[in-house]
Amino acid sequence: MRSAPSLPSWTSVAAAILLLTACSSTPLPPWRAPVTNAPAPKPAVVAPAPKVEAPAAVAQAVPQASITPQDADSAAPYSAAVAARFPDPAIAYSTPGLQAGRTSYSSNAEISTWLRNLAANPSAGAKVSVLSIGHSQQGTPLEALLLTRATSPDAPSVLATGRPTVLLVGQQHGNEPAGSEALLVVARELAQGLLEPLLDKVNVLVVPRANPDGAAADQRATANGIDMNRDHLLLQTPEARALAQLARDYQPTVVLDAHEYTVVGRYLQKYGAVQKYDALLQYAMTANMPEFLTRASEEWFRRPLIAALKTQKLSSEWYYTTSTALDDLQISMGGTQPDTGRNVNGLKNAVSMLIETRGVGIGRMHLQRRVHTQVTAMVSMLQSTATRAEQLGQLRSFIDRETSSLACRGKATIAAGPTKVQYELTMLDPATGNDKQLTVDWNSALELQTQTSRPRPCGYWLSATSTSAVERLQLLGVQVLRIAEPGSLLGDLYKETARSSGTRQDVRGGISDAAPIIKTEVALTRSLVDISAGSFYVPLGQPLGNLVLAALEPDTQNSYFANHLLGTLDDTVRVMTEPTVRMERLP
Ligand SMILES: [Zn+2]
Repeated sequence: MRSAPSLPSWTSVAAAILLLTACSSTPLPPWRAPVTNAPAPKPAVVAPAPKVEAPAAVAQAVPQASITPQDADSAAPYSAAVAARFPDPAIAYSTPGLQAGRTSYSSNAEISTWLRNLAANPSAGAKVSVLSIGHSQQGTPLEALLLTRATSPDAPSVLATGRPTVLLVGQQHGNEPAGSEALLVVARELAQGLLEPLLDKVNVLVVPRANPDGAAADQRATANGIDMNRDHLLLQTPEARALAQLARDYQPTVVLDAHEYTVVGRYLQKYGAVQKYDALLQYAMTANMPEFLTRASEEWFRRPLIAALKTQKLSSEWYYTTSTALDDLQISMGGTQPDTGRNVNGLKNAVSMLIETRGVGIGRMHLQRRVHTQVTAMVSMLQSTATRAEQLGQLRSFIDRETSSLACRGKATIAAGPTKVQYELTMLDPATGNDKQLTVDWNSALELQTQTSRPRPCGYWLSATSTSAVERLQLLGVQVLRIAEPGSLLGDLYKETARSSGTRQDVRGGISDAAPIIKTEVALTRSLVDISAGSFYVPLGQPLGNLVLAALEPDTQNSYFANHLLGTLDDTVRVMTEPTVRMERLP
C-alpha cells in the first residue's frame, strides 16, 4: 500500500516528449533521454556517489563529550525509550544557536552577522553576497545569501551563467528552527568549505529565516497572524512578497522549503502515538502541474534524497499531517491548494520540494539530529541539481514552452483534491518506543481528483481598476499587457449563481488568521465584450499560465476575487479567441 506514483522509464518519457515536440505548434527543443547512459535500469535515477561525504565533511570536529545533551529536558514530551530511538548523529554541527549550553536558537542578528562574515571571506572563485530582499512586518531585514561564480550578484549576471539556481528557504514557520540552523551550515560550506566546488555547476540562494518575527516570538505565523506559507499566491505579507520577488528575479530551477512537523500533541491525542520519521518529504502536487516536472521531482530528486538519508540511518516518509479536530482521524498528505511555497513554486515550473523534520513541540530535543537530517537533505538537493544541471535546463525550457502552448486549447483544471485511500503508517508507542503500525484513512495528493474543469482560455481580460491584482501577478513573474486602444473581445463572462462567505481551509483546518473569503458559484456566458484602453490582458500563452489560472478563476478559495483583490466578477473575462486589439507591455 506504500505506493510511489507509477512512473514509466525515462526512455518512454523522452519518447513522449519527442512526440509532443513533433505535434506541437510551438517549436520545442530536442531533449535527450536523460538516463540513456545510466548503468542501472531501476531505480532509474541514482545520484553518482558524492565526491565528498558531505554531511560528515560539513560538520565541525566537535568531540561528542563536549556536547551538552539536548534532550536532558525535565519536561520531555515522551519517554526515554522513545528518545533512545533518536540518537545524536556521529558528528556535531556548530552555529550560534547550536552552541553548548544555549537555550535559544540563532538570533536574527546572529544570522545576519553569519551571512555577512561569509560574504566577507569567501573561497577564491566564489562570489558570496548578502541580498537585502525586504523587511519583516516588525522591521527586521529579510536577507538572502547568493553564492555563485557569476562576477556580479545582480539577477541578469546570475542568469547569464546558464547554471541552474537552487533556492533554499528556512523557517517560514517561526517555531520550526532546524532548517534555519542547517542553512547556516550549508551556506558556510558553500562559501568556504567542502561544498564550494558545487558552484561550478549551480548558483545557490539561501534564505535562512524567511519569517524572523515568527522566530523571535517562537510562533508559526508572521507578526500579524498570517501564515506566510499559505500566502504565496495572494502575497498579503511582506515576507511572502520578498520571496516572490527573489524567485521572479533569479528564476530558481530548484526550490527546497525547510520545515519541522508536530511530533506529539494532536498525534498523541488522536492515535496514542508519537511520530517516528526523521524526515517527511513532498514535492509540488496541485492542479495543472506539468507531468514531466513531477517525474523529475520524483526520480531526480526525491529518490536520491531518500537514499542519502538512508545512508545516514535517517528514516523518511511522504509528508503528512492531520487536522486540529480531535474527532477527525484522517491523515492527509500536504495540501493540494496553490497557496504554499511548495505548490506555487511548482506552478512557476521549478522542482519544488518540502522537507519537514520532527521538531515541533519537542523543544531542543534531538536538535543535532534534526539539523543533520536537514543538512543531508539540502546537500542531496544541491548534488542532484549539479548532477542534472544540463538536463534541468532542457526540462525547464521544455516545460515553459509546453505550458505556453496550452493556451486556448483543451481543458484546464480549476479545482482538484486528494484521493482517499488506506495507508499503512508507522508511528511509535509513547511508552515503549516500539514501532506502532496503523492503517489510516489517507488523503493522497499523489493522485488528484478533478472537481471542476473548464476550457482553457487564451487569457484573461481585467478591468482598468484591477491594479491590485495586476501588481500581485507581476510580482509573481506573470507578464501582464495593457490594452492600448478601445476594441472588443470574444469571451466568457462569469454570472454568479450563488454566494456565501467562508474562510480558507487547508488540511490542518482553518488557515491562520485568513480574512473571510467570498465563496461564489458561477455560470459562464459567451459574449462579445467591449474593452477600453487602459484595461489589462493576461495571456495564458506564457510559462506561468498555470499560475494565472490559480489566481483568476473566481470560484476557488485562493482566487484573487475570493480574497478581495478584484472588486466584482465583471472585472474578469475569460478571453476565448486570441485578441487582435493593440496592446503594450507594462514596465
Ligand atoms: Zn512549517
